[in-house]
Amino acid sequence: MFGLDGKIIFVTGGNRGIGAAIVETLNQLGALVAYTYRSAPGPAARWTMQADITDPLIMAQAVARVEAEVGPIYGVVLNAGITKDNLFPNIPVEDWYAVIDTNLNGVYNTLHPLMPKLYERGSGSLVFISSVVGEQGNIGQANYAAAKAGMIGLAKTLGLEGARYGVRANVVAPGFTSTDMVKAIPDKVKERILAKIPLRRFAEPAEIAWATAFLLSPVMAGYITGEVLSVNGGQYT
Ligand code: NDP
Repeated sequence: MFGLDGKIIFVTGGNRGIGAAIVETLNQLGALVAYTYRSAPGPAARWTMQADITDPLIMAQAVARVEAEVGPIYGVVLNAGITKDNLFPNIPVEDWYAVIDTNLNGVYNTLHPLMPKLYERGSGSLVFISSVVGEQGNIGQANYAAAKAGMIGLAKTLGLEGARYGVRANVVAPGFTSTDMVKAIPDKVKERILAKIPLRRFAEPAEIAWATAFLLSPVMAGYITGEVLSVNGGQYT
């Protein structure tokens, strides 16, 4: 139904949280999932590798290995990400660089070795996992918001550049989602966030995963590119 059966999808940070839900959903849809992780592997998949997304050489190796060991990649989910929250004046330079390096430069490291192959083959679908914070900003998350907004600009540009080669690029912008990342937020802050979400709850990782599968799908989203799909319970429209 999704047209993802047998298609090779490469996911960064597929071992836990939203990434793990994406891997499980794509497994369910018959895709051949290859994913990277930093610390420890997660759900079963066709192919996995430990790879720090901030290392361009390792990511080029990961892409080359998937192509050699599994086959031609069709879809990519740019999911790996971190937070290092603080009010802007208090963000130490190393935390600024760490967040930009993981959340934005990591996307470059993943896609740069792969795009020529997708263009040559004339098909592909990229889904960037950005954030509602990249759309609206958030107090205490200047580094994260900058990186996540950067992902949107990159996705829109690759949507334009990739169109003539049959490569689509779209964004899922999740609202607050029940994973380790949100568990780390103090309870008081969580209550304040919940009060601003019309659906009055955080997203489940599977809800982000299905939106991702939709955009990856050549059947359902074959005419959608450069788009941002906000999955945020009505928090920001
Ligand atoms: P988690 O903290 O649960 O998982 C983060 C994932 O990113 C893990 O798989 C982690 O690997 C991986 N990762 C982090 N740094 C690196 C690195 N240097 N190299 C390789 N992998 C790395 O986060 P979520 O599942 O919540 O978030 C997934 C994505 O969704 C992120 O991009 C996040 O910004 C975004 N998002 C999350 C929201 C939320 O509320 N949870 C809301 C909006 C967007 P490892 O486990 O090995 O450390």
